[in-house]
Amino acid sequence: MSRIHGPKCKLCRRAGVKLYLKGTRCDTEKCAMNKRPYAPGQHGSRRSRKSEYAEQLREKQKAKWIYGIMERQFRRYVAEAMDGEGVAGENLYRILESRIDNVVYRSGLAVSRAQARQMVRSGLFMVNDKVVMTPSLMVGPGDVIKPVDFSKVHLREGFVLPEWISANVKERYVKYERIPTMEDFNENYEVQPIIDFYSR
Ligand code: SF4
Repeated sequence: MSRIHGPKCKLCRRAGVKLYLKGTRCDTEKCAMNKRPYAPGQHGSRRSRKSEYAEQLREKQKAKWIYGIMERQFRRYVAEAMDGEGVAGENLYRILESRIDNVVYRSGLAVSRAQARQMVRSGLFMVNDKVVMTPSLMVGPGDVIKPVDFSKVHLREGFVLPEWISANVKERYVKYERIPTMEDFNENYEVQPIIDFYSR
């Protein structure tokens, strides 16, 4: 499957915020957003006023880069969110967060979503005692995620477990407890401009 290639730090600089795409490096002085917090290119340091369209485009690009999702699949998620009951933006947030690669990352079992994706693809996790190898697999309330081989999984330093996931340290598994809501939302992108972008 094709993925987002190229220098990840450039994506953060284009977005104008830290997207945390490179794992532990993102929390160090080496983070490119500490050294060059402006867009790449000769005119990058000049920030112009953005049109509404440009702002919407920027939010959807940020979300795609954060979760590592290509346009076609992202578009499918948005369509699903818009078809679902309730508020489309909230539905989109729930869909993006419920991918198994994201849940592995949120649980502190990988340093980045890219690593989580790779680990899932390598068959390092079970969902409800079955090995899964599809990073886009959706998990939901009650699902239990457990590493297959504990020697290959290390907890990420300083991660904070979201309230919608619980950890059973003794049994060494994490559980998707409930659907995340906008009260849990603490991300570097906004959902409504994304919905507006695809509603044009
Ligand atoms: Fe690079 Fe910093 Fe973005 Fe991490 S947060 S990908 S180190 S620019």
